[in-house]
Amino acid sequence: MVSTREPDPRAGPMLADPLLLEKIDKLFACNIGEYISLPQLVVVGDQSSGKSSALEGLTKLSFPRDSGLCTRFATQIIFRRDTNLKEREISASIIPSPDLDAGDAERLRAWKASGAETLGGDGFVSMMKEVHEVMGLSSFDNDGKPTFSNNVLCLEICGPDEEHLSVIDVPGIFKNTTPGRTTKNDIAMVRNMVLRYMQNRWSIMLTVVPANVDIATQEIIELAREVDPPGERTLRILTKPDLVDKGAEDKVIDLIEDQNASGQLGSVLVRNLGQQQLEDGNVNRDAEEEFFRQTAPWNRLRAENFGIRALKNRLQDVLASTVRREFPSVRKEVNKKLKASKDTLRSLGDERETAEQQQRLLLGVVATFQDITQQALTTNYGIREIFDDPELRLATLVANRNSDFAHDLTTRGHEYAFKPGSGDKSTDHKGEGERDDKEENGDGLEQKFGDDGTPEAQSILSRKVTENGDLHEILHEGAPIECSIRAGITEWISKLYGDARGFEIGTFNHVLLSTLMKKQSAKWPNLAQGYVSDVISYVHRFIQKALLAACPDSEMSSSILSLLMDELMDNYRQAISVADFLLGIERAGTPMTLNHYLNDNLQKCREKRFQDALAKKAFTVEFPQGDEKAVRLGDVHHQDHMSNFDHTVQDIHDILESYYKVARKRFVDNVCMQATDHYLVTGPKSPMKLLSPAWVNSLSTDQLEEIAGEDAVTRRRRQQLRKEIRHLESGRKALMI
Ligand code: GDP
Ligand code: MG
Repeated sequence: MVSTREPDPRAGPMLADPLLLEKIDKLFACNIGEYISLPQLVVVGDQSSGKSSALEGLTKLSFPRDSGLCTRFATQIIFRRDTNLKEREISASIIPSPDLDAGDAERLRAWKASGAETLGGDGFVSMMKEVHEVMGLSSFDNDGKPTFSNNVLCLEICGPDEEHLSVIDVPGIFKNTTPGRTTKNDIAMVRNMVLRYMQNRWSIMLTVVPANVDIATQEIIELAREVDPPGERTLRILTKPDLVDKGAEDKVIDLIEDQNASGQLGSVLVRNLGQQQLEDGNVNRDAEEEFFRQTAPWNRLRAENFGIRALKNRLQDVLASTVRREFPSVRKEVNKKLKASKDTLRSLGDERETAEQQQRLLLGVVATFQDITQQALTTNYGIREIFDDPELRLATLVANRNSDFAHDLTTRGHEYAFKPGSGDKSTDHKGEGERDDKEENGDGLEQKFGDDGTPEAQSILSRKVTENGDLHEILHEGAPIECSIRAGITEWISKLYGDARGFEIGTFNHVLLSTLMKKQSAKWPNLAQGYVSDVISYVHRFIQKALLAACPDSEMSSSILSLLMDELMDNYRQAISVADFLLGIERAGTPMTLNHYLNDNLQKCREKRFQDALAKKAFTVEFPQGDEKAVRLGDVHHQDHMSNFDHTVQDIHDILESYYKVARKRFVDNVCMQATDHYLVTGPKSPMKLLSPAWVNSLSTDQLEEIAGEDAVTRRRRQQLRKEIRHLESGRKALMI
């Protein structure tokens, strides 16, 4: 109610401070009312007390007044001044009651008034009829439909001359049921609805009471006093002065003057059109009221206490003083809401509309991903909570799998167990994964367990990780790995040597060694491919999870992954083919080593064999320091009366064993360093390196949009929030001046 800046000659002495009014004007202009509650007027009173008529006077909207269409739901009318508009624009919508089910609520929300712009006269009445239907309210007695509804009809009226105001018209309260139309339940429901609006401390109650009844006994006056004892937000409107009994007018006039002297919001008398006048039509409400004002004895009433014009001015004052009183809490609420909106906006993450924004966002994701990778590879797990997930502890996973690989290859990699008695256990330094008591031991007589401690009959699997769906086509499937064959290595070597010997004496053709080696290492391919596949699975899962942690949402991480998938696959295939290459070299190439370890091993084999032979001839000698084993010098010759053939077979066994050991250790190291570490984990070709700033820069606009673009809902939400923040910020500024 702030349109008039000029003092109105008929206005009362409590004209509002123009600066404050301007402030309020600004506050409304930035749509603050959409986000926080601002003072609103609630028109309350008994049925037929003249509420709708008074509202019509105020709003120039023809509220339906025939009894069949009496107000059956709350109608909120929001007026906004918009000087950019040439004429009034009206939009209507329904706010569904919170107790409706989702489907009905959605249907009501979807409703829009047809031709709401022309809500003058009949247009408004027919729209109200439509609303009754949409809300499913009864249209005639006993039709079984409800009479009242908790839905709210919301009318928004914008125009160049409107006052910033929100008025709510609620159904009139009533005491008696009408059979077939209203029930006891309806009485309670309406009363509760009305009370709810009255109790809102932002409400200014306009209590409408006909002047021709005993005002003191009106229930609404009682109710208003109960919810607002000091009368700070109760403005009384007296109607139907033309129906006051002759002779009783002075009493009414005195009452109004008294009430207006009381310092509370007081009373205003209005003269609306009677039923008959409405039916006749063509009667100008304001002219009728003005005419009435000039007739005795009503002309005794002071201008500020009579008529719609006075009511408007009074409302303007009331609104201003309420706002002034409530300014501190409005400010607080604006700040609170502003913070909430900003927080929500922040939670939506960075804006991602333009290609530059999307690129920036992606670069951030890449940086975070690289951080996580770096931390995972340096076991800096304490730094992020995500490392509580063991699948993200990549270094540990790979290190453990490396050990398992070495161990499996050591304990089961060989087809035949070597003959016992060869190799020196005390000086043989164990490599990674070789467990002391489990070194190859071909004895096999009393042994119930395999070299690796699993029951002999039980096979282990070449893969330790369950399959990752995406990679099914390239990864090794996993095969059972049996224990080495306990006995029969000598027979096997004898057979092969017997089948391939030539005229050599005491030596053998080196081709034989490669044939033996190939057979002896028959389980290497499964073990190696199982190992490489497991590491690929670890790496792939790591990438999936780290990406998810680095991205603002899961859609983005999965689109990045699908765009990278081809390159990732190439990378994984590369690692697999390196393992294949190494297998080929070790198993099909010429046996070769420059490692003196071969000779050491061979030496040890022979010494051990010699010592074992001498041990049979040893006897105990007593020395002062203790007993010692001794051998007669004449006995020191190693003669086992073996045939040349057997001797060569024994030599071949020892050479195969020594070479196998060197080759196995070399193979494990090479697979771990070249296939997995270089191509999968820390090397420059590791798949994690694919996600780089260079990759982001190489993306086309379309690809950027596909990965980092935002869905329409989020985009709208962001726009909405930004508008809200803009409004609230200018509102806050308006409040500070
Ligand atoms: P509501 O039920 O409180 O909304 O009351 P209405 O505004 O629908 O008015 C009920 C009846 O009283 C209608 O027929 C109006 O024409 C009539 N009425 C309202 N105000 C006045 C008034 O000031 N004078 C006369 N004569 N009739 C009035
Ligand atoms: Mg009404």
